[in-house]
Amino acid sequence: MKCALVTGGSRGIGRSVCLKMASMGYYVLVNFRGNREEAERTLQQIQETGGQGELLPFDVSSREQITGVLGGWIEAHPNKYIEILVNNAGIKDDGLMIFMKDEQWDQVMRTNLDGFFFTTRLVLNGMLIRKYGRIINVVSLSGLKGLPGQVNYSAAKAGVIGATKALAQEVGRKGITVNAVAPGFIRTDMTEGLNEKELQAIIPVRRFGLPEEVAHAVGFLASAEAAYITGEVLSINGGLYT
Ligand code: NAP
Repeated sequence: MKCALVTGGSRGIGRSVCLKMASMGYYVLVNFRGNREEAERTLQQIQETGGQGELLPFDVSSREQITGVLGGWIEAHPNKYIEILVNNAGIKDDGLMIFMKDEQWDQVMRTNLDGFFFTTRLVLNGMLIRKYGRIINVVSLSGLKGLPGQVNYSAAKAGVIGATKALAQEVGRKGITVNAVAPGFIRTDMTEGLNEKELQAIIPVRRFGLPEEVAHAVGFLASAEAAYITGEVLSINGGLYT
């Protein structure tokens, strides 16, 4: 059985990506950290549309949990193969660098950057054996442009962009593509506190994006037909500077 693992699948962009993967016929592994109720809602929506999947909770900022839970799942399911990995789980914890606490730096790096590394390394093995895979990393406009107040988040996302380009070159000849999508402002819990009315003036398309619009791009990069696209960063930002 072919599976798609979506980290941070309980809410926002991750939920839409889970539904997209299910619509493409994948058995979806819905990862989340703590919000079981929302994760169950994602799974329910998958099932309502005729798809299949299961919850796989682990904290991507903890290498022990990644090894224990995800590694354990892979070992226990030799006939299920993760063909698509969407590294979507992410957090921000903003503040000017001069006031930024150690924990704000550490937690944002661990979740956004280390999470990518430890999750991907584990899943990569199966893809290499089967000589097929699609890895899509959800980064951010901040990782391309840098945003004031987000030195930690911009650095983490820029780190994932560099890793995307490097890994794409390592595994290209093994039938595995590695790409990133870089959303601008998308309507989710993460942007809840932002003033869309004010910010839409700087967005050429004049609105925030929808999680489904990011999922659409992820679905494209995850398709078999996208085999010749790798090491790319696709912006989904309504025309904001990239
Ligand atoms: P969101 O609505 O805040 O959802 C975050 C998701 O990540 C939740 O499912 C959450 O799980 C999960 N998560 C957070 N920390 C985790 C951890 N340590 N381990 C496992 N799961 C974890 O965020 P979003 O807006 O959909 O963002 C998704 C991705 O897009 C992030 O990487 C974000 O940086 C990126 N992004 C978002 C925007 C935007 O405008 N929204 C723009 C650019 C980039 P729980 O529900 O269990 O907490």
